[in-house]
Parts: sequence; structure tokens; C-alpha cells
Amino acid sequence: MDLAADVDDRLSQLLTTHPPRETDGTEFRGAQFDLGLTWVHFPEGEGGLGAPRALQGRVNQQIEEAGGVLTWWVNPIGYGMAAPTLAAYASGEQRSRYLRALATGEEVWCQLFSEPGAGSDVAGLATRAERDGDEWVVNGQKVWTSLAHLARRGLLLARTDPEQPKHAGLSYFVVDMHAPGVDVRPLRQATGDAEFNEVYLTDVRVPDQERLGAEGEGWKVAITTLMNERLAIGDREAPRGGGPISEAMAVWAAAPEETRRNAVYRDRLMQLWIDAETLRLTNLRSASTARTGTPGPEGSIGKLRSAELNKAIFGFCVDLLGAEGTLYTRYESTRFERIRTEDVDPRERFLRSLGNTIEGGTSEIMRNILGERVLGLPGEPRVDRDVPWTEVPR
Ligand SMILES: Cc1cc2nc3c(=O)[nH]c(=O)nc-3n(C[C@H](O)[C@H](O)[C@H](O)COP(=O)(O)OP(=O)(O)OC[C@H]3O[C@@H](n4cnc5c(N)ncnc54)[C@H](O)[C@@H]3O)c2cc1C
Repeated sequence: MDLAADVDDRLSQLLTTHPPRETDGTEFRGAQFDLGLTWVHFPEGEGGLGAPRALQGRVNQQIEEAGGVLTWWVNPIGYGMAAPTLAAYASGEQRSRYLRALATGEEVWCQLFSEPGAGSDVAGLATRAERDGDEWVVNGQKVWTSLAHLARRGLLLARTDPEQPKHAGLSYFVVDMHAPGVDVRPLRQATGDAEFNEVYLTDVRVPDQERLGAEGEGWKVAITTLMNERLAIGDREAPRGGGPISEAMAVWAAAPEETRRNAVYRDRLMQLWIDAETLRLTNLRSASTARTGTPGPEGSIGKLRSAELNKAIFGFCVDLLGAEGTLYTRYESTRFERIRTEDVDPRERFLRSLGNTIEGGTSEIMRNILGERVLGLPGEPRVDRDVPWTEVPR
């Protein structure tokens, strides 16, 4: 049987033995993992089948059509970033310890990269990890850490040698978010949800065996995480006319006749629809050529366009709502539980979309990457590249 037929066969087996609407989500995703359908391009026994990555799209689509909730919705950082990083750098023992619980959503993951003084320039970060025998002792502060309050594991980038230039002195660790010294404090966003957090790390002990990649080579590992992040954010698969543009169509359909006759609104909607379709086709093309391993800088195309388009689409929805668009449905502070896909108010969508052009690298940084690494334009001046981190003014 060829791989595509094998995938289809396993998929129908999964949907028959575990009908998604009647099966507990954790159990369903566990069965999906055991059949190799969580990420088909991973090796057998690790939630995959060694099949082409492009086949994952139809698996996901059919599971969602049958009412299943994919790992991405319950553990987005685990699925989009931790799993590919573990696949590339973790030991076999770590992969068998982590991947299944990540896939089922029992262990949520978060990304401990950004700091108050290091966002776009994340390689300049200050959190220290100092060696103490077989362990590392970590001290510092992270910020904007999405889902840290739900997370069991964190992907930590920390400075292990401050005398090296900034990129060379970093190492990468998996942190137990329940370890002593990890303090997670919520940060409220414009939507009212506290989806992200500040994370204070005080004398947190991390075993050396939880290091991913060699000591001092954390930047290389971080690139794998960041490239996959851009792909995970920008490369969401939706059918034609699906995703955010379908929400704009719904707001349009419910708008008063007078609004829908307005030529300027009609023109904006058509243009947004065309942009959404162009992005969908671009994503399909990149998925069909994607290979296992670290995605290339072209992943920034989907990230940049989807972030800008989301803002434009939901801004359009708010405009269509007229004065109603200025009202908000709730003002209480809520602790974020999971990504909601159903019945989200377009005004809430609009407020959340503002973060899209910041999270996972800002649109300006995406343009820098595309300019320098895809188009081959000259790089911007970087004066701190070869200077020991301790000598860089802060
Ligand atoms: C909703 C949300 C969720 C997030 N989740 C996480 C998470 O889970 N984990 C995590 O580690 N981080 C997370 N972040 C942080 C995010 O990665 C950073 O906010 C982002 O990288 C920008 O860093 P900064 O906020 O420090 O802004 P800065 O880097 O200070 O940037 C400020 C402005 O300057 C511009 N700028 C900076 N450098 C350049 C340059 N070289 N060229 C041109 N323009 C430049 C930027 O584009 C921006 O407009 C999240 C952010 C948001 C909004």
C-alpha cells in the first residue's frame, strides 16, 4: 500500500473506532497519535508514519469535518513549535516521554523566549542559566508568555556564557513549569483575556539532560522553533472562502441593505476575499513542497500576510457594524482557557487580531527576513554581532 492510501486507511479506522463527536477529546487525540496521524511526517511510533508532510492537510480537514478537535487548538505552541523542535533536537528518550502527552493536550507547552528588554532582538536576552554539576540554575524574567498558566512544559532560551557575542552564548532547555521558582503572573490583553503572562524564574533547577542541542548552540535550536512558529501561525489550512474571510461574509450577510449597497464596502470586501484566496493558494503551494526539518525563511510570507490580512478583515467587520462596532461585549478580566473557534464576536476578533502583527515576530521583522534572506537585499547594520554580550550597552 502506498503512503497516501495508508494514511486514508488509518484515518477511516480512526473515525470509525473513535467517532469524534462521541469520544473524549484527549482519548481521540491519543488514538490519532497511536495511528501515526498527529503529524504524518514524523517517524513511526512518534505520532507519524514517515509520510510526506503535505498529507497532513487532508487528515486535519477530515477530522475537523467529523467534529474532532485537533491538537493545535488545545496546545498550539506544543503542536506548532515544541514538537518540531523536539523532533529535531531531543533524545529518543525525551521524545517518547513528551510527544504523546503533548499531542493529546494533557501537557500544554509554552515558549519562554521574549523578555522585557529582548523581543525582536531576542538573541540579546538576559535570563541566565549557570551550571551546577548535572543541573543548571536559571534566573531571569520572561514576558508575553502565552498559555504559561496552563503549561506543564516550557521551551526556554537562556544565556549560559555572557562573555560570548549574543548569539553564541545561548543554550536551550525544556523547563518543568511546575518546578520550584517558576512564578507565572497573568497579563490582561485588550480583549479582556489574560492569554499571556509574565514568568519569573528564581533559582529554577533544570537537569542538564533537559538541554536541547549543544551548550552554546541554543540559537540554532531557537531558529527551528521560530521558523516553525511562523509556519504554524501563517499556514493555517482552511477551505476556499473559509477562515477569517467567512466571518466577514457572515457580518456582511447580516448587515442592513443600505450598507450592502455601498460601493466602497463592496469593493473592500471583494479585495479582502481575493487577498484571502491568494494567501490560501500560496499556503497550499508551500505545503505541497514542504519537507521535514526546519522550514526556510519563506515561511515568513504566510506569517506576514495572514497577520496583516486578519487585521484588515476584522477592521472591516467593525466598520460594517457602524456605531455598534464601538461597543464591546464584556469588560471583565478572564483567564484564557483555550482557543475558541465558535461564535466569537467580530469585535473581540478585531481586538485579538491587533496582536497578530506582533506575536511570532513583528511584521517589520518579517519584512527584514524576507528582504535579506529571500530577496537577497543588503542587511541592516548590526553593531553588536561580534561583541561580547557583557560589553553591549543596555
Ligand atoms: C499575543 C502575543 C503573544 C505572544 N506570545 C509569546 C510567547 O508565547 N512567547 C514569547 O517568548 N513571546 C511571545 N510574544 C512576544 C513577541 O514575540 C514580541 O512581542 C515580539 O517579538 C516583539 O518584541 P517586543 O514586544 O519586545 O517589541 P520590540 O522588539 O521592542 O519592537 C518595537 C517596535 O520596533 C520594531 N522593530 C524592532 N526591531 C526592528 C528592526 N530591526 N527593524 C525594524 N523594526 C524593528 C518592531 O517591529 C515594533 O514595531 C507574544 C506577543 C503577543 C502580542
